[in-house]
Amino acid sequence: MLYRRLGLAAVMLFFAPLSLSAEALTIIHAGDLLAVPGTAPLRNQTIVIEGGRIVDVQSGFKDASSFEGDVEVINLRDKFVLPGLMDMHVHLQGELGPSNDRDALKMSDQLMQMRSIYYAMNTLKAGFTTVRDVGSSAQEMYAMRDAINNGWIDGPRIIAAGGVGITGGHADISGVSPDLMEIYTSANVCDGPYDCRRAARNAIKYGADLVKITSTGGVMTDRATGTGQQMEMDELREVVQAAARMGRKVASHAHHEDGIVAALQAGVASIEHGSYTGPRAIKLFKETGAYLVPTLLAGKTVAAMAVEADFMSDAVKEKAIRVGTDMAGNFERAHKAGVNIAFGTDSGISRHGTNAEEAVLMVEAGMSEMDVIVSATINAADLIDMSDSIGTIEDGKFADIIAVSHSPLENIEELLNVDFVMKGGKVFKR
Ligand SMILES: [Zn+2]
Repeated sequence: MLYRRLGLAAVMLFFAPLSLSAEALTIIHAGDLLAVPGTAPLRNQTIVIEGGRIVDVQSGFKDASSFEGDVEVINLRDKFVLPGLMDMHVHLQGELGPSNDRDALKMSDQLMQMRSIYYAMNTLKAGFTTVRDVGSSAQEMYAMRDAINNGWIDGPRIIAAGGVGITGGHADISGVSPDLMEIYTSANVCDGPYDCRRAARNAIKYGADLVKITSTGGVMTDRATGTGQQMEMDELREVVQAAARMGRKVASHAHHEDGIVAALQAGVASIEHGSYTGPRAIKLFKETGAYLVPTLLAGKTVAAMAVEADFMSDAVKEKAIRVGTDMAGNFERAHKAGVNIAFGTDSGISRHGTNAEEAVLMVEAGMSEMDVIVSATINAADLIDMSDSIGTIEDGKFADIIAVSHSPLENIEELLNVDFVMKGGKVFKR
């Protein structure tokens, strides 16, 4: 062991001069630059990047000779450049489809993890440089998050949730034999306030960046248990308080208004889906400043699958058609009323890498192109407490930068075809 450590030290010394030269500057010539979503884009700008971070943004196209040392110039003079997009609701470990049951039986966890890396890369290449994974086999997702942060593998920045849910609720296992249910029941399934307090602490102990709960039933639960409130007020309050004591936020999946209201009263930071956000919920959203993460793409996807595909049970189909169809109108009302919106797709229901289709649906539901981009940059960064390091193209932020051919402020569908992706100063698509 000692020998191997010494060997590694020797190798690192040998390569030290090379790693110094890696600090060379990169400059991007941006034809149109939306540096701060919510403000007007600027023409002909030069973004200066060093050590993975933006160190300056200058007017005009500065050439390499204006800087000292090695300078790489990236020409995006005919592109529209904006901050990397963020998706606040993904499930990187899967994709909904007819082979899900078979995969669960036949695929090893190790192979599934490799597939998750593939899905994560599809997401990154689509221009999403940061995602919040709100439901996966948690330990695998924490490992992927940490491996990406360490630079061992490529992928978007991952903010990973630990799930806490009640027995028989949406977060609990369903649709398999009782024997398999026993095996797959999470240690974070809880009942009653003190048990849920334990579960929240347990999720954080093993690595959760946030706690994800399900205050109402869910569409994909293979039980006809509805989409109304499931967790009790005392359980919701305990989870939020236990998480807050350890510096973690709580996100709650919720469809019906009773569950949205209860979760907001308990103090969650975001409501996922919010399919039936009515006047009571809107009032609370505005009082608390909590974010709605709309996932319109999931609603559209499951409603279509319920009709076209034949792998869903009757219990799931009924919910998929009802909830999927109702989501967009409710989102429109919430947005018009001024509820804070953070972009989220529920990718894993839809295919990874098609995340920007959510933006198209948001515009169709009455949101402006600029507000959609704000929801996927500035608002998302705020929700995950990373406003000081991502969300805009400004000094000191990570160089998470994407480019499209024409202005998405005029046609949001431009986001469906991202031409250039940089994350932390490293180019992943050009
Ligand atoms: Zn989800």
